Amino acid sequence: MRRSAFLLLFATLLALAYQTQRPSAQTRELAPGVFMRAAEPDKRIIANAGWVVFRDYVLVIDANYPWGARPILEDIRRTTNKPVKFVFDTHYHGDHAHGNAVFADAGATIVCSADCLAESHRKNPAAWAKSAADYKNDRLEHPQIGFPEKMVFDDGEHRVELIKAGPGHTLGDAVAWLPKEKILFTGDLCVNKRPGNNLADVDADPEGWVRGLEKLKQLDVQTLVPGHGLLGDKSALGGQQAYIRAIIDGVRAGIQKGQTADQLAESLDLTRYAPWGADKSRNAPSIRAVYAKLKK
Ligand SMILES: [Zn+2]
Repeated sequence: MRRSAFLLLFATLLALAYQTQRPSAQTRELAPGVFMRAAEPDKRIIANAGWVVFRDYVLVIDANYPWGARPILEDIRRTTNKPVKFVFDTHYHGDHAHGNAVFADAGATIVCSADCLAESHRKNPAAWAKSAADYKNDRLEHPQIGFPEKMVFDDGEHRVELIKAGPGHTLGDAVAWLPKEKILFTGDLCVNKRPGNNLADVDADPEGWVRGLEKLKQLDVQTLVPGHGLLGDKSALGGQQAYIRAIIDGVRAGIQKGQTADQLAESLDLTRYAPWGADKSRNAPSIRAVYAKLKK
């Protein structure tokens, strides 16, 4: 083989090897060792995920669905060879937690707030059974460690504070806060897209959600990774909060005027709270859910 042909072949092989080592286009490094993997709705991977590469191990933020967990794990492998030792579920919902077993099988221990752990045992067997056809090749894995208010991972290089901030979207919502990098992974306490998140979980607490967001606003957030939607900044917390506040206040005023849930779902205009309230038809389930709670 001529030398130039050999060099060309070598370069091509090198480029191929490099490409197979690179994570997917969904993954970006937000700060050294801190990664976000964006949702891929066309593959039914609807929630964002993240991971932090500590000195000796990887901590994953949100396990996603099983079919999301596998490509996330592949992307992690392409960013580090350190073992995935911990997964933090921001809450028990399937799009954030039903991929737990994929990570457990890779050697990880699953952590979440104690309330989230209890919710997983109480609600996930039924949720799993409901989607049995989707999950036929997988198994439900509950978190194994539940923390009351806070759990801290700190090896001197990275610090991640898991902070309980619910009840809000669910009973056990918690967030991952990286004080050095000023990055906040919010789970579904904050989304950055339309619709602006649903309040329909049986344990959703609209007033608690507003309070939880107020607590998060005290953090010096520069980069916000929402549970769903685009990477944002601190302003997303206020936007999400204003949207929920408007639903609560609008529904409360409607109840006082004797309006029904159907009337409110039709008349309560939240479109100025864009992107959260931009989609009228998607606001309706949240309006109805808040109505049912406030009417009690
Ligand atoms: Zn959720």
